[in-house]
Amino acid sequence: MLTSVIGYPRIGANRELKFAVQKYWRNEITSADLQQTASALRAEHWKKQEAAGIDLIPSNDFSFYDNLLDTAVLLNAVPQRYQKLGLAPLDTMFAMARGYQGEKGDVHALPMKKWFNTNYHYMVPELEAGTHLALTGTKPFDEFTEAKALGIQTKPVVIGPFTFLKLAWYAEGLSSHDFAADIAAAYADILGKFAKLGAAWVQFDEPALVKDLTAEDTALFASMYQTILAAKGSTKVLLQTYFGDIRDCYQTAAALPFDGIGLDFVEGSRSLALVQHGFPQDKTLFAGVINGRNIWKSRCRDVLDLLNTLKSCTKQLVLSTSCSLLHVPYTLKNEPTLQDSQKAYFAFAEEKLAELHHLAQLTENAQAQQDKDYLANEALFQAQRPGSNPAVRDKVAGLTDKDFTRKPDFAEREKIQKAEFKLPLLPTTTIGSFPQTKEVKSMRARHNKGEITDQEYTDFLKKQIADCIALQEDIGLDVLVHGEFERNDMVEYFGDHLNGFLFTQNGWVQSYGSRCVKPPIVWGDVSRSCPITVDWAVYAQSLTKKPVKGMLTGPVTILNWSFPREDIPRRDSVMQIALAIREEVMDLEAHGIRIIQIDEAALREKLPLRKSDWHKEYLDWAIPAFRLVHSGVKASTQIHTHMCYSEFTDIIPDIDAMDADVISFEASRSDLKILDALAAAHFRTETGPGVYDIHSPRVPSEKEITDALHKMLTKLDCQKLWVNPDCGLKTRGKAETEPSLRNLTAAARAVRKELQQ
Ligand code: GLN
Ligand code: ZN
Repeated sequence: MLTSVIGYPRIGANRELKFAVQKYWRNEITSADLQQTASALRAEHWKKQEAAGIDLIPSNDFSFYDNLLDTAVLLNAVPQRYQKLGLAPLDTMFAMARGYQGEKGDVHALPMKKWFNTNYHYMVPELEAGTHLALTGTKPFDEFTEAKALGIQTKPVVIGPFTFLKLAWYAEGLSSHDFAADIAAAYADILGKFAKLGAAWVQFDEPALVKDLTAEDTALFASMYQTILAAKGSTKVLLQTYFGDIRDCYQTAAALPFDGIGLDFVEGSRSLALVQHGFPQDKTLFAGVINGRNIWKSRCRDVLDLLNTLKSCTKQLVLSTSCSLLHVPYTLKNEPTLQDSQKAYFAFAEEKLAELHHLAQLTENAQAQQDKDYLANEALFQAQRPGSNPAVRDKVAGLTDKDFTRKPDFAEREKIQKAEFKLPLLPTTTIGSFPQTKEVKSMRARHNKGEITDQEYTDFLKKQIADCIALQEDIGLDVLVHGEFERNDMVEYFGDHLNGFLFTQNGWVQSYGSRCVKPPIVWGDVSRSCPITVDWAVYAQSLTKKPVKGMLTGPVTILNWSFPREDIPRRDSVMQIALAIREEVMDLEAHGIRIIQIDEAALREKLPLRKSDWHKEYLDWAIPAFRLVHSGVKASTQIHTHMCYSEFTDIIPDIDAMDADVISFEASRSDLKILDALAAAHFRTETGPGVYDIHSPRVPSEKEITDALHKMLTKLDCQKLWVNPDCGLKTRGKAETEPSLRNLTAAARAVRKELQQ
């Protein structure tokens, strides 16, 4: 049985690509240097997969920033404003990714959104009236040729036209139909080129097919692929789907002349039933059975059972990952601090290659159940997992409705809090973190290595906090933060201080562009042994009369940005985490912290892709978990929350039901569209839609922010509007942060004045 990988991580086992790209941005290396690092990484990844015995190795899964952005460039979808800068192609692409502010102009970045329900972000292609989609780029061909020169025959991967059009943004009056014919012609050209280059297979990724599709969607999908596949020559075409099942278009896909269909059997709850109902005998089934999104080993017994069932449905079966391995870290080999007894449970990208190969061999082994590795794997899954805590389990089991209900109700609290805090109209604040300077990072690293004492490190952090408070007072912000200098990452920090988590040293996963995160692993039952943030918050509050927000990460985000357990339901895990964070909330309040922000940055992210699953699979426990965290505080304690990205138009009542007092979220990159929806739904929670984009280094002018506020005030009650950036400032430099925040407070003051006239 052949094996296939949908995509491999590209950032480098030691984040080589990240560091090279950042050096390039700082003008420390040339584009030739950068290209050299990139091609060395590609070669390494291809060779690794070849050595592991993978048959269908992906190419063009590499990207300097993002694959959808690459696809936009490939298809000539470069908006005018970037073309006008007159930059070299690589720099034009980076301008689209990050915005550009310099000699040649001043432009915003493209909007950035989460890739389906993952923590990976893509750049949203923009299609304007003048956009003529056509195959103008060469990246997939270059990379295929590059691999071929190394003696490796790859399977090029390109995001498919349906997904591209579904994720794109359209200028007023335009829709996918205006671009369907052109894009189909471009993909036909892609196939033509690959046939010439001698590619055996091309993989078109169409994850958008796993969402709820309308009849119109299915028709669009079918009509584009009819055109594309009509141009098919010697190269076989694989329709690759992932992150769910394709129940709405399975029959359509089966009837089209694809050579292979890739289905996700890990997250696709109906994939098996679809195939059992009938799989076209002229096609190869690429069975996604190795979970590309989690780090646990597969249970051989279950995978073999599944494969045996599939074998009875189709003669041509290829064993595959469930999605790209982009979402898992590189290798356990880089994890010296994990014990062997722990590593026994895990498979990162490299180990998943070995799993694929091993499973493929087992399917051809009549004695599979006697195989030594099979037996060891089965023994692991049958053994009792370490890390169980009966007290925590009892607490979760004993939760009742009143644990999830804060009293008094929102309206009454709002009155009490207005009297308590006496904040001005349009109060200003930030989301929590301040720039993590080189100095902050290096002191943390030195402390971790034992090069400086705990006392030295604490003194250093206190100095940072004091400077940060002084700066915020000088800038004139109303609700202050301590700056989060003690935290590397908002989830890792809490995981690190709670029982039940495991940490990797190098388990980096790309989040966007050059940004990586190191998700903790939920390993056992979760509990808190002692206060985590209280000392920092209390110290910061002691330095100022203005309120300082206590800053916590919420349970849903901790779970969503960790690798979750697969041996207990997510609901149980999240309630355990919620109980631990609740203890921290109560301690902060007891120590005089009057405003507490519980970030749920990632709450929206794991919303199931199908609407029918939203509540029963997710919101029915995620929203209560948040309520459990804060339901015990006094009426006068103000609870804030923060969510990254504003794509929650459809779940506004659920967000209101979190029952926070104030919510801040991203809005600046998406045209403030959410505001209409908030107004329409009579959103009661006070709201701080971010007034500028912190993902870009540009400094917003006072006028830009004033304009944004004016726009917001046409939709939102001024009594409920807060003024803040759209996310934490930790990734920004000091140089842009201070002027940006000064412009922010100046804008708030100006608009306040207008309102008072
Ligand atoms: N409080 C966090 C910060 O400011 C929130 C980060 C986030 O939303 N991703 O960094
Ligand atoms: Zn955020």
